[in-house]
Amino acid sequence: MARYQSVCEGVYQVGGGFLSDPDDCCIYVVEDNEAAALIDTGAGNSVPRILQNIEACGIDKGKIRYIILTHGHIDHIGGAAELKDILGAQVLAHHLELDAIEEGNPRLTAAAWYGVDYRPVAVERVLREHSELLSLGDVELYLLHTPGHTPGGISILSTIKGKRVLFGQDIHGPFHPDWGSDKKVWHRSMLELLDFEADILCEGHAGVIKPAHEVRSFIQGFINQYC
Ligand SMILES: [Zn+2]
Ligand SMILES: [Zn+2]
Repeated sequence: MARYQSVCEGVYQVGGGFLSDPDDCCIYVVEDNEAAALIDTGAGNSVPRILQNIEACGIDKGKIRYIILTHGHIDHIGGAAELKDILGAQVLAHHLELDAIEEGNPRLTAAAWYGVDYRPVAVERVLREHSELLSLGDVELYLLHTPGHTPGGISILSTIKGKRVLFGQDIHGPFHPDWGSDKKVWHRSMLELLDFEADILCEGHAGVIKPAHEVRSFIQGFINQYC
């Protein structure tokens, strides 16, 4: 079983499907000289595996200072409490996802879909702006509010060694009234992501998509399908 997939310098996929557990979303690590950030945490059944995969990348676990939760669905947040305990990292998420992440509202986490018990986690850095900056040293991550799939979904944009990298965990949808999905605002979010003209898209379930024209047609394809 593969341990990780290298995306570009300092960016690795360490979880999702064949790398950790079939229930997990794609999980990414971004590492820079001062710190590293974990993007999403899987459904919660594969934390030891995720930690082994991070080590296999050659990343010192002590360097992971941030856990960014892109939205409150169980396949993205299930491992957050345990990973936070082990890594001692700060959890970041948008304020409109706190009912799911901190309270464990089962309608919002969709935990029943996966048949797992969710252990809530405290969010130390609550995102309230349209765009907020998180610095890992030279690499800067822009945490952009991109609602639609859920009300407080975020995407992460960064330019890493000259490549524009987009972590867009919920580009493919789906949409459900229980989660507060909204196709109209989703469309607006997608147009904003297209404006970034990413060279690489790290998606939440579809994996890594590149080059730029493939990223564009991936996003545009879902706009055409849903709007
Ligand atoms: Zn998901
Ligand atoms: Zn989702």
